[in-house]
Amino acid sequence: MSLIFESPSDYVQGRGVAEEIGTHAGQLGERAVLLADDVVLDIVGETVTESLEAAEVGAETVEFGGEASKTEIERVTDAAEEAGADIVVGAGGGKALDTAKAVRENLDIAMVSMPTVASTDAPTSSLSVIYTEHGEFEEYQFYSNHPELVLVDTAVVADGPTRLFRSGVADALATWFEADATYRSHGQNIFGGESTRAAHALAELCYDTLRDHAVSSVRAVENGAVTESVEAVTEANTLLSGLGFESGGLAAAHSIHNGLTQLEETHDATHGEKVNIGTLSQLVLEGRDDAFVREIIEFSVDVGLPVTLSDIGVENPTRDQLDEVANAACDDDETIHNEPFPVEPAMVRDAILTANDLGERYG
Ligand SMILES: [Zn+2]
Repeated sequence: MSLIFESPSDYVQGRGVAEEIGTHAGQLGERAVLLADDVVLDIVGETVTESLEAAEVGAETVEFGGEASKTEIERVTDAAEEAGADIVVGAGGGKALDTAKAVRENLDIAMVSMPTVASTDAPTSSLSVIYTEHGEFEEYQFYSNHPELVLVDTAVVADGPTRLFRSGVADALATWFEADATYRSHGQNIFGGESTRAAHALAELCYDTLRDHAVSSVRAVENGAVTESVEAVTEANTLLSGLGFESGGLAAAHSIHNGLTQLEETHDATHGEKVNIGTLSQLVLEGRDDAFVREIIEFSVDVGLPVTLSDIGVENPTRDQLDEVANAACDDDETIHNEPFPVEPAMVRDAILTANDLGERYG
């Protein structure tokens, strides 16, 4: 198997960079469609449209419906085609960006990824997570291209909901454990290749950055402040986590997340919040020592992340429910098989149960 590393062409991050989007996007095309929901349009709609028009890029907006589902992708594809767009700018959270990626693939145009929250590692990747219209995980869709440009305005991120910023920390925290598991097992990354040393090192840098800066960055975002820690963690949540998971590989944490989406009760928890339960369960599954598991639980609590099933809405889960989660997590297509040992549903169920108990004890 060959080593494969892929990434977006350009990454721009900083306070106020939304105003510069036209300068960068002007190199990509002449007519842009901005896809964002009504809340995000209120925040960045005018800035983005004015900046594009100042760079002589036509700009139309399409309001995002809220779910990265097949019907929504079809609707937005039709709207962008009708507008004659050669650039799609996806602005908002992971689902808006994932929808924009699908539209870009359908129309073979350029894409600008503009996360307004540092809540997931979706902005830099070339895959979409597709959900049903009811919010259940359906499948991953893989595309041949990455966004041409990823642009992150940290003033917008710091102004956003702290809960989503924290969720980004959780999604990024999983990156190192999953990339490292894949590296040790010589498993496959998202591109069907083996991890490069570069991807493995980026994933570790992601982890170190979070351990050094996450707590203070969350305090800053709570107050709408942009500090060096906010810049560091925004980069970790977005760029390092994005490159780290795609080129480094996913393992148990994200499969357990996908399993947890089977339970209706978890639908109000964010992606990152569910991933954190996946991360703690992965550590137990791998037999990490008590002190280390406790350290990660305490770090999660310091950041304000869930450490028990009840924290993500699942009170007193039945054995059947946990079996359902574990079975889904161990589907043949799941990345849990990147762990460096064979994984069976019973092992996963018991790891979730035990991680939950440890979370109750140390959380
Ligand atoms: Zn994720």
